[in-house]
Amino acid sequence: MLEYKLKWNDLPVKYVNPANSSKTCPLCSGSMASYGGRITKCEECGLIMDRDVVAVLNLQMRGEGFTQRALNELIEREGLSRNESNNSLCIPT
Ligand SMILES: [Zn+2]
Repeated sequence: MLEYKLKWNDLPVKYVNPANSSKTCPLCSGSMASYGGRITKCEECGLIMDRDVVAVLNLQMRGEGFTQRALNELIEREGLSRNESNNSLCIPT
């Protein structure tokens, strides 16, 4: 269905491996552990993020070669905050 809609709108379709897409940190590739509800926290760098957002960022990176720099720009553009003391990232809900 999604593939059909993308092609209808002349948008490119790319297939990526979704394995562990919500369990891998998009910043450092560490493993994300449950942090209450749908929120996950990276055990390596302390990033705190909704698991769906984590999955989308990882799938984008796999599909488009979404870079660390692009991720940082996204963080800046969306006004997401990064806690410098523990390097965690907070998304307003
Ligand atoms: Zn991390």
